[in-house]
Amino acid sequence: DVQALVAVALDGADLPKGVGLPRGFGLPDDLFASDGQITKRAIRAVTLAALAPRGDELLWDIGGGSGSISVEWCLNGGRALTIEPRADRIANIEQNIRDFGLEDRMQAITGRAPDALEGLPTPDAVFVGGGGQAVFAPLLALPPGTRLVANAVTLETEALLIGLQAKRGGTLTRLSVEESVPLGQLRGWSPARSVTQWAVVL
Ligand code: SAH
Repeated sequence: DVQALVAVALDGADLPKGVGLPRGFGLPDDLFASDGQITKRAIRAVTLAALAPRGDELLWDIGGGSGSISVEWCLNGGRALTIEPRADRIANIEQNIRDFGLEDRMQAITGRAPDALEGLPTPDAVFVGGGGQAVFAPLLALPPGTRLVANAVTLETEALLIGLQAKRGGTLTRLSVEESVPLGQLRGWSPARSVTQWAVVL
């Protein structure tokens, strides 16, 4: 289980090949407690690369879901505040905090952005995985140098990100991932919903 993986990873001992929690981004989805609403590993790996964690920086993870983005940020040396309105998902986030041993770096906050952001310590980076137009107003007023990454799966949010990039610059990336699945006796590609990602340094 996850706790055993984390325990050997922190142990720092010489491990047999393939044992312990791997470094880098994109841990398997099934390591996280979730209800299925989770940024899938390939998209998560690209998202973490865009967020670019550096030692001890603070992340706001808006629309925490399972908290998988925050977990990987914290495993890479950062601290995170994970904002999520749904109590059932907060429970998953809190379980993931415990399972990955991140109690001193990661905190779940029950609430809805932008209101829930008021009074929080200023972040070094922000990920937006949920919430609409209203979320961006306070984010765009964060200090210059703040890194902002937002993922969209709906047309409405994608249109919002396309408009924001026209005004504020940064990069738009469209990510499409397919995985092989059984197709009768054979195999075929099963595409996941494409994600449009906006990444900008304010
Ligand atoms: N990145 C997450 C998945 C995010 S799904 C993971 O890897 O697990 C998007 C989440 O945004 C949902 O859980 C939804 O409840 C939440 N959400 C929607 N509107 C929000 C808002 N205004 N503020 C914060 N979270 C919001």
